[in-house]
This record gives sequence, C-alpha cells and structure tokens, in this order.
Amino acid sequence: MTQAPGIAGLRFLVVEDHEFQRWAMGNVLESLGAKYVFSAGDGRAALEILRGLDDPIDIVISDLDMPGMDGMELIRHLGESGGNPSLILASSLDRALVASVETMAKVYGVALLGAIQKPVTARVLQALIDEHRAGPDVARTPAAARIFTVEEVLEGLQRGQFEPFFQPKVEMCSGAVKGAEALARWRHPAEGVIGAVSFIPLLERSGHIAAFTEMMVKSAAACCQAWRELGYEAGLSLNLSPETLADVDLSDQMVRLVLAQGLVPQDVIFEVTESAMAANLGRALENLSRLRMKGFGLSIDDYGTGYSSMQQLARIAFTELKIDQAFVRNAADQEPSRAMLESSLEIAGKLRIAAVAEGVESREEWDLLRDLGCDFAQGYYVAKPMESSAFLGWLGARNVVV
Ligand code: C2E
Ligand code: MG
Ligand code: MG
Repeated sequence: MTQAPGIAGLRFLVVEDHEFQRWAMGNVLESLGAKYVFSAGDGRAALEILRGLDDPIDIVISDLDMPGMDGMELIRHLGESGGNPSLILASSLDRALVASVETMAKVYGVALLGAIQKPVTARVLQALIDEHRAGPDVARTPAAARIFTVEEVLEGLQRGQFEPFFQPKVEMCSGAVKGAEALARWRHPAEGVIGAVSFIPLLERSGHIAAFTEMMVKSAAACCQAWRELGYEAGLSLNLSPETLADVDLSDQMVRLVLAQGLVPQDVIFEVTESAMAANLGRALENLSRLRMKGFGLSIDDYGTGYSSMQQLARIAFTELKIDQAFVRNAADQEPSRAMLESSLEIAGKLRIAAVAEGVESREEWDLLRDLGCDFAQGYYVAKPMESSAFLGWLGARNVVV
C-alpha cells in the first residue's frame, strides 16, 4: 500500500449550519494539524464546493439536521456521484436515529468512517481520521471490485469456472457440524476467486440464473454425497433467487437433481430471502409449499432485512430462520440490533424452528449468541467458505469442541 498522507495533506469539508459549531470543528481540525479545511452551511453549498474544486475532498464531516439540503440528502448525492470522499457524521441527534443514517450511508456505498456526538473532541476525531488514513476497507467499497459483463460470466460458465464453496454451520451448544452452505465462486483465470455478489445479480437480471442454480445444486449435492461416503453426515444449504421461485417446475427439478446425486430432499435446505418472496408472492408460496411437501428444509435468509418478516413466517412452514449478520455485528453495542436479535431468537423458539446466526466473526459475538440461546452459527469465527476439498480437510481436522 502507498504511504497514506498525514493530516496536513488531507482536505476536509465541514458541513454545518451553526456558525459557532462550524468554527469549533475547524478549530479542532487545525489543532490536529489540518491545513485544508473548507466549510459549507448545508448540503447544497457542500455539493457546489465538491464540484467546484480541482483537487478532491478526502473527508466530509457533516451534520444531519440542517435547513436547506439536510445531511441525508447530501449522503445520497455523495453515494450517487461515485467519487467518494470518506464521511464522518457529526450530530447531536438521538443515537438510534444516527444508527439508521449510518445504515443508509452504507447502502448508498459511502465510505463511512463513523458517527460522533457533538461537541466533538480532538481525540475522537483523530481516531476516525486515522481510519481513513489506514486505507479503504475492501468490504466497505464493493464498487472497487471489477465489474463483469453478462457475456464474460456466461463464457466462464461454459468453461466450467464456477463452483460451490462451503461454509460450515455449527451447533452452538455442542460444536457439532450440522451442515454447510454452498456459496457460489468463480475461479477466474486472471482475477482469482470471485465472490457471489459480482455475478449472481447479473445472472438474475439477464435471465440466466435458472441454469446456474441447476449447476450449483448438482455440484454441491455431488460434494455432499462424497463427504457422506467418507462418514461425514453434514447436510447441505443452497440459496435460491427470486427468479427461480417463479418457475412452477422448480420442486420436481430439484427432487430429480438431488436424487441423481444420491441424496434425498431431507438432506437439503433451500434458503430464500424475504424480498425474494415478495417479488412474485403467489408463485413463491406455491413453490415453497411444494418444496416443503417433498421434504426439503426451508430457511428464511437475511432475516430482519426484508419488508414484512412476521407475515412471511406465518405464511410458510419454514424450518429455519437465518438472522442477518448486521444484527449479529451490532448487537453488542446498539440497542435496536440487540432487540432485533433477541426477538428473532424468540420467534424462532416459539415457532420451534432452528435459529442460525450468520456472519459470526468474534468470540464475543459467539458468546453473546450462545448466552441468548441461538441454536446454530455460521461465520468467519468458525470458518470462511472453503472449496470442497478444503472443507473436507477442515471436517477431518476439526476438534468438535469450539
Ligand atoms: P447469504 O446467503 O446471506 O450468504 C452469506 C454471505 O456472508 C456469504 O457471502 C458469505 O461468504 C458471507 N459470510 C459468511 N460468514 C461471514 C462473516 O463472518 N463475516 C462476513 N462479513 N461475511 C460472512 P457471499 O458468498 O459473497 O454470498 C453473497 C450472497 O450471494 C449470499 O448471501 C447469497 O444470497 C448469494 N449467493 C451465493 N451463492 C449463491 C448461489 O449459488 N445462488 C444464488 N441464487 N445466490 C447465491
Ligand atoms: Mg444464504
Ligand atoms: Mg444471509
């Protein structure tokens, strides 16, 4: 990585309607060694400055509640303009409200360094600026990933460059491996291993996801059967796209594919998101009921991020609830996420279906979930998604106690 510039080399834009606050923030920045500090009284003035300068701004420090264009609208423009400066939110608003704006900034693709309460202290501000200087977090800037065309993806598909990776799902009380989720990966000859978000939406939009799903189910089921022959009884979870749920032949086709590899429907869980169901509700309900009738497990994926969580659960005989990683991540220090996590676990308990926490990354998260009574966990803390042979090695080397 190239040497990050010191604070003196960074360009700041302070967006704040109160003159005194603006001055105070400028003062704190200068005390930290900042040399280039621009300021604006609202979002509109900020955008004019951003567009008018020859050298780009590195960090925007913005209030939320301002007359004229407020902080929320400014964030949207920052996200849409693509030439992302980093953002620090400085607000005296309620913590829960600021948290929802943080989520919004991430959705808009803005590199958010953090949110601070006013009045701002030099120490807190310094810590956030240091984060900017540490360089971009890859996970935070998916826009930086190479964009592929449909033609490239289809060509890769034809050449057999796609395969399932496997991430274990572990029972929290015993540490036993219950199963594995198949996650699609592209072994690109020039770019290395590419993650699902770079090609799944493209395949969905271009009408090619059905053929892709068929390939995934076939190869993942074959891998699963191979582990079983070696004595590992792990089940298999597979993701289904909204488009797939519209095809009325889905369940017959899935039964055929699974049986052909020597598995039975009871070995397989299909994961669907709430928004996938909303896209074509009638068809989705028909297909999901039929899949369940044939014996497949059904999991509601990314639970809590969709529109009408409770309704969906009441409609379909789901067998598993997968709590989205956002709630896992923030549960320790954000009250709304903690409440969401606890209520998800309570609902799963009442419906007598398994609760799975996604994206468990640390010992603290694991302990919290276990204490709250979550049944299963998946995440980097246990293992990252791995190619089939590595997963087999992992199973073999694993000591059952976590
Ligand atoms: P998902 O089904 O919710 O899968 C979980 C995602 O979280 C995976 O991303 C996984 O690699 C990632 N993950 C797992 N543990 C951790 C962790 O501890 N921390 C963090 N930060 N992330 C973790 P991935 O593989 O990039 O997949 C993204 C999404 O793409 C999946 O979300 C799923 O909706 C979709 N997808 C993946 N494979 C397929 C597929 O074969 N078919 C369809 N239709 N969709 C797929
Ligand atoms: Mg999933
Ligand atoms: Mg998920």
